[in-house]
Amino acid sequence: MKRPEEIKINRFQLKVLLNDNQKEGFDYIVNHNVYCGNCGGTFNQGVEINGMVLDSLNDVRIEGACKNCQGKVARVIEFGEDKEYYQKAMDFRKSIGK
Ligand SMILES: [Zn+2]
Repeated sequence: MKRPEEIKINRFQLKVLLNDNQKEGFDYIVNHNVYCGNCGGTFNQGVEINGMVLDSLNDVRIEGACKNCQGKVARVIEFGEDKEYYQKAMDFRKSIGK
């Protein structure tokens, strides 16, 4: 089977894909759990999201700027192992022709 391609998604599309639990997990990671290589350390002030990508495993990669130092950060948030979510993501791809 051919691997799905990476596609850019917006916040609205992400909300459609995630259930409430996953949304909470996503927000938590974005606000508390993205490591910034520029300031370092395990504590940071969250990320300003500039872009999101649905990758070939249907995980979500966020790209943005550290709110503390404005350094570039990226992080993959894994949802693709959840079967229900994965199916939703595949249906979403179909609906936009990807
Ligand atoms: Zn930083």
